[in-house]
Amino acid sequence: MKKISVIGAGTMGRGIAYACAAAGYEVTIQDISEQSLETARSYISKQAAKAGLSIENANLEFTTDLKSAAADADLIIEAVLELMDLKISVFKELDRYAKPSAILATNTSTMSPTEIAAQTGRPKQCIALHFFNPVPKMKLIEIICGLETSDETVESCFHFGEKLGKECVRINEYPGFAVSRMNCLIGNEAMTMLMEGVGSAEDIDKAMKLGLNHPMGPLELADLVGLDTRLRNMEYLHRTLGEKFRPCPILVKYVKAGWLGKKSGRGFYTYS
Ligand code: NAD
Repeated sequence: MKKISVIGAGTMGRGIAYACAAAGYEVTIQDISEQSLETARSYISKQAAKAGLSIENANLEFTTDLKSAAADADLIIEAVLELMDLKISVFKELDRYAKPSAILATNTSTMSPTEIAAQTGRPKQCIALHFFNPVPKMKLIEIICGLETSDETVESCFHFGEKLGKECVRINEYPGFAVSRMNCLIGNEAMTMLMEGVGSAEDIDKAMKLGLNHPMGPLELADLVGLDTRLRNMEYLHRTLGEKFRPCPILVKYVKAGWLGKKSGRGFYTYS
């Protein structure tokens, strides 16, 4: 693998693009929003400066053109919003424009790589690579195989993960995989407890950090993830796994108000 393309330059896409560039890959990052591309550009140069890397000279390209981003990539990682219809339409286009040998990966947190792969002509080369936020810090990639994902595709992805300095786990497809399935429940319970007045956001988070040694509290983590993204995760898990994943009403209300967490300046906490 030489060239990686990342589709979607939001919270995850820009982190994945940075990790790939830092590992020495040629990277193209595509988004429909010029604003997202600009934010990604400055995020990547800040991360590189922090790590003492000179990404300036790296082969890094920013574009709104999906066709050119897909054209000569060996691996394409999709990181658009957590909406099945959107992911399928992006994959259909990628399948049309990418070279036949290219692997198409989704960074979905919860959804079925089999369902996405089935809409392409290359289900053996489709897979989910679930990175974690913030990508430069988080060690794990969950590698989720769809029904037809080939062993060769899985192997290439493990090599890719190693080159990024990450640890990979192989997970068989089931909604929410391993991490989101557990984490969404913890977060939802914390939101319900906040709503019931069990404690303040600060105290609920502190209890989990000091009582269970979690590095972040579930409410500050939800703010970091983005409450809109978390709500889409919960809605998908509720549809596929049932009642215990019903999104907490406070999460629904905050998203309606435009309180999306850290990225909007307000969520369970206020950010300046
Ligand atoms: P985000 O809202 O921060 O970014 C999404 C980006 O996709 C935006 O920049 C948007 O302009 C772009 N986009 C929308 N439609 C597009 C299209 N048709 N083509 C190209 N770009 C398009 O979202 P995010 O938090 O980065 O989440 C992206 C994916 O990663 C989701 O599937 C999410 O579930 C998953 N994920 C998120 C986290 C997290 O902590 N935020 C962690 C792991 C996985």
